[in-house]
Amino acid sequence: MLKNEKAIVVFSGGQDSTTCLFWAMQQFKEVEAVTFNYNQRHKLELDVASDICKELNIPHTILDMSLLNQLAPNALTRSDIEITQEEGELPSTFVDGRNLLFLSFAAVLAKQKGARHLVTGVCETDFSGYPDCRDVFIKSLNVTLNLSMDYSFVIHTPLMWLDKAETWKMADDLNAFEFVRTKTLTCYNGIIADGCGECPACKLRRAGLERYLEMRGASQDV
Ligand SMILES: [Zn+2]
Repeated sequence: MLKNEKAIVVFSGGQDSTTCLFWAMQQFKEVEAVTFNYNQRHKLELDVASDICKELNIPHTILDMSLLNQLAPNALTRSDIEITQEEGELPSTFVDGRNLLFLSFAAVLAKQKGARHLVTGVCETDFSGYPDCRDVFIKSLNVTLNLSMDYSFVIHTPLMWLDKAETWKMADDLNAFEFVRTKTLTCYNGIIADGCGECPACKLRRAGLERYLEMRGASQDV
C-alpha cells in the first residue's frame, strides 16, 4: 500500500506543485518536498515554497541548481530576457534539460531519505511544447533512474492528463482550493495568488480557474 510509504514532491510553490503536495499528503504516510534554486527571476518563489512547507509541516530541502542558469540563460532566470512565445517555437521560459536534471537530483535525494516515490506536477495537456513534460519522457526517465541507482523509484504525475480547470478541481477535491488560490505563486511577474493577470502563466491559470468555477457553479445549480 502506498499509504505506508514515503514520497518526495518536486515543489516550486506554484499552483501545480502545491496541488501535487496536497495529493501526496493524501496518498502517502510521509511526504517531503524539494525545491531547486536556479536563480529564479523572483527569489520570492523560494520564500513562497518555504512558507507553504512550514505551514503544512512538510520537511523541505532546497537544492542549489544555479549551474542551470550558467548552461541555459533564459527568461525565467534573466530579467533582461523577455517572456515570449513565437508560433511553432518553444517559449523563452524553456530550459533544456530542466526536468531531467530536477527529477534526477530529486531521485538521489529520495534514495538518501529512504523514499522511492517521486511526485511531479508535469503535465502533457498544457505543456506548451516542453519535451520534458511528456509522459513518454517521464516513463523513460523512470526506467533510467531505476537502472542507474539499482532502486525501484516510481514517478507519479497526478496532473499529466489534466487541463488547468481539472487541476483546480483536484485542489478542490483535496480541500485545498482556497489554499492553492491564495498562497501559491505562478505569476512570472512575482505576484502571489491571482497574480498580475497579464503574463502567460497568469492567463493560463485564470482561464482554468474561470472554467472550473463555471463548471462548479453549473453543478451546484442542478
Ligand atoms: Zn502574472
